[in-house]
Amino acid sequence: MIKFVYSEKFLKYKENLHPESPERVANLVNYLQKKGNFEFIEPDLCKEEDLYLVHTPELVKKVKENTFFDPDCPNIQNIFYYACLSCGSAIKASEISIEGGIGFSLGRPPGHHAGKNTLGGFCYFNNIAVAVKKLLLKNFKIAILDIDGHHGNGTEEIFNGEENVIYVSIHQFPAYPGTGRYSFGNCYNFPVPPFSNSKKYMEKFEEGVEIIRNFSPDILAVSCGFDAYIDDPLLDLSLKENDYYLMGKKIGSLCEKIFLILEGGYNIFKIGNLCYCLISGITQVKNTNYNGQKVN
Ligand SMILES: [Zn+2]
Repeated sequence: MIKFVYSEKFLKYKENLHPESPERVANLVNYLQKKGNFEFIEPDLCKEEDLYLVHTPELVKKVKENTFFDPDCPNIQNIFYYACLSCGSAIKASEISIEGGIGFSLGRPPGHHAGKNTLGGFCYFNNIAVAVKKLLLKNFKIAILDIDGHHGNGTEEIFNGEENVIYVSIHQFPAYPGTGRYSFGNCYNFPVPPFSNSKKYMEKFEEGVEIIRNFSPDILAVSCGFDAYIDDPLLDLSLKENDYYLMGKKIGSLCEKIFLILEGGYNIFKIGNLCYCLISGITQVKNTNYNGQKVN
């Protein structure tokens, strides 16, 4: 039922010693291929006009011409191509959800730190935002749940005040990018102090889940990072494998139409298992009817 959107082209660029490495996604995909008979679908490039639903022409031009400067976002050759493929991958995952499946984009670069006119935090274009904006054109009501360990400042900026969307994020604070301390309007932020135990994170996650349940979205879009894991090298949160499974079960129970977009997660030896735990939780719920019986 889960269809992964993925291309080996995502592995074709790298910056030495940069934590957002091709090994992250390569290991994740290898792990999934060993664990199960999952379906993988090739993404298409997004159209340039799709980018303009979210980003300014100035930002698009800068990425296209490689004339930006950001310490976290290297000026890699052809990065515009990869960023467009990652956006296209998110769009495809969202289309799978409309058709009744669960789409999971395993693209890179990630996206949730990219704002309307800004790149940052390894993100060039905001993949999930582009996919959600396209769905809004079709009058869907959408909740974005961000379980990456960092706050999705770009996604928040893009959807702040937008009708028919809520943004819910659980993240370490203080940490990069320094935002996400307070909730306002349609943006619900759940900061978790560094070195908190996983129970603290999961309590905040449950609060976020309840907000989404009350909002009753047509589609749930998940910014799915794995850097809230206890052994992630970039953050100091404490989630364990079973927490990802439990989050998957909650996510699966929230909405009929779901798609997920890979964001961060930098423990290259664990990211595959963490993803597998999460999707096991989702499929466990989706394959069970109200009486707890298997339906297929
Ligand atoms: Zn992150």
